[in-house]
Amino acid sequence: MLEIRNLAKTFGSGERALSDVNLVASKDEVIAILGLSGSGKSTLLRCINRLVEPTTGSVILNGTEITSLGKRQLRQVRTGIGMIFQSVNLVDRLSVLDNVLTGTLGVMPTWRVVTKQFPKSEVERALEYCERVGIIEHVEKRADQLSGGQRQRVGIARTLMQSPSIILADEPTSALDPKIGYEVMGLIRTLAMEDSLPVLVAVHDTGIAKNFSDRIVGMKFGAKVFDQPTGLVSQDDLDQIYVDDNERPSSRPQQLESA
Ligand code: ADP
Ligand code: MG
Repeated sequence: MLEIRNLAKTFGSGERALSDVNLVASKDEVIAILGLSGSGKSTLLRCINRLVEPTTGSVILNGTEITSLGKRQLRQVRTGIGMIFQSVNLVDRLSVLDNVLTGTLGVMPTWRVVTKQFPKSEVERALEYCERVGIIEHVEKRADQLSGGQRQRVGIARTLMQSPSIILADEPTSALDPKIGYEVMGLIRTLAMEDSLPVLVAVHDTGIAKNFSDRIVGMKFGAKVFDQPTGLVSQDDLDQIYVDDNERPSSRPQQLESA
């Protein structure tokens, strides 16, 4: 279970990216974080594993308060947090299988990863994930021979190698054609349900949020404006985040009075 309490982030530049966000994610739940560009979705996800250091507030994952961990413990906890990004960072000259196996980095001794001497059990596990994400017929191909959707699938299989207890996905389909994007979101949802993994997925597309989440958290100007089961999200809720009724409070330009 993930619990976010009073999370806030103000960047050095004075940009208030998150203010007082509270959120609880339990197992078996895909939560869409929905909002316009700049509403704080990425910052929220990145504060969870402290790729961005929160200014205040706490993040508690399965009883561990991530926000108070030292570097070494943080590294360990991060291996249990699967991240999926918009563009997948694969090693192009490596095979699909080897790319998936690098997901054990941080769990496996580094020498095994660089020398590609993985235990048989890990290779079997990697093949199983390749099968589950639908890329088993491509395992021997070099990563640079894959399409965008296939690359995203490899990235997902690589994430599963970490045996994560939660998945954070930041606009995982934004770089894909709509049809492929829907397939990839469908896959993420299926995996989440099969493995009882909570998923937080940042999206700016209402259609994706509505079709693939159990709950939608609407974000605007860094604040949570609604948090509803997906079936109960109304047009009024959506209007709140999409209708540009006022300027971002913290970034309103200082008007200099011209003489
Ligand atoms: P989203 O993912 O919803 O597009 P972000 O979380 O990326 O939104 O950004 C939220 C706000 O924080 C934006 O106004 C953005 O400009 C600002 N921001 C994000 N990252 C940084 C950073 N590293 N330094 C300064 N401001 C940032
Ligand atoms: Mg973002």
